[in-house]
Amino acid sequence: MDTQILSGKVVSESVYDNLKPRIDKLLSNSIMPGLAVVLVGDDAPSQVYVKNKTKKFLSLGLFSETIRLNNDVSQEDLIGVVNNLNNDNRYHGILVQLPLPNHISNETIINAISPNKDVDGFHPVNFGHLAAGKPTFIPCTPKGIMRVFKHYNINLSNKHVVVVGRSNIVGRPISILTSLKRNDSNATTTICHSGTKNISYYTKQADIVILALGYPKFLKGNDIKEGAVVIDVGINRVKSTSGKGYMLLGDCDGSSIIGHASALTPVPGGIGPMTIAMLVENTIEAAEMELQ
Ligand code: NDP
Repeated sequence: MDTQILSGKVVSESVYDNLKPRIDKLLSNSIMPGLAVVLVGDDAPSQVYVKNKTKKFLSLGLFSETIRLNNDVSQEDLIGVVNNLNNDNRYHGILVQLPLPNHISNETIINAISPNKDVDGFHPVNFGHLAAGKPTFIPCTPKGIMRVFKHYNINLSNKHVVVVGRSNIVGRPISILTSLKRNDSNATTTICHSGTKNISYYTKQADIVILALGYPKFLKGNDIKEGAVVIDVGINRVKSTSGKGYMLLGDCDGSSIIGHASALTPVPGGIGPMTIAMLVENTIEAAEMELQ
């Protein structure tokens, strides 16, 4: 079977093309969309993610600033930084890069972000709207997955979607989005996690498998039904003798999936670029509130 490669690079370019007139309208109304990124500590992958996000904002002529804080910043001081950003009208969106150091509660910091600037969609107000199927800021990675389905005309209705991973960032929200009673979703969704026995029993029944567990090469070709669609969210840094000293692997074993799946997102170049595109889109949405 031919396996179609679902390119996040291609889909993200069409997202940016569609955003262009919206950006122009904001600029012509003297509104410069702005994103504040808060980066705590020196976690290497986080530095790369933040650099890529900022680079994209700047390349689109948008405003983005990174506030770098030491690993030992107190929770109280971090809340103070977030409060200042909430009140600074240069920023329409605020993103606190996760993970945070152990002495800081992710939940407390996310709750401190104004829901109107929560372009990551993690605040409980926005998460509640998502769960209820109401308009809101949708977390960027699951929103990006839904956009890939739309771009490639992958219909979810009456399909069985199996999600592996239940984090609030990816697994949980994508399981909600795929099962909403809406034309672009309406799937029957099963969610698997570390407490699930025999995960391949479920993935073998799936029309669509979404992997978000952070375990390199977890899913193999014989774990899926012939013709299934595989969405690989995983980004795993694995030691390598090549240039950077590491390589990026997804959660599936691409070489054994190709030939069995009807479609697959690559790593890199799949869901990663979509996550950034959706962050830009959410920030534009936040800036558009100023037009109302
Ligand atoms: P988390 O670590 O927060 O969550 C992982 C989830 O997978 C948990 O629900 C965990 O179960 C489950 N899990 C872990 N190992 C297993 C296993 N062996 N069997 C079954 N379930 C397992 O990760 P994230 O959701 O934040 O990220 C997942 C992956 O996606 C990572 O590789 C991350 O780098 C990548 N990612 C990629 C993005 C992109 O833009 N492409 C964006 C965000 C993340 P339990 O709940 O029981 O602990």
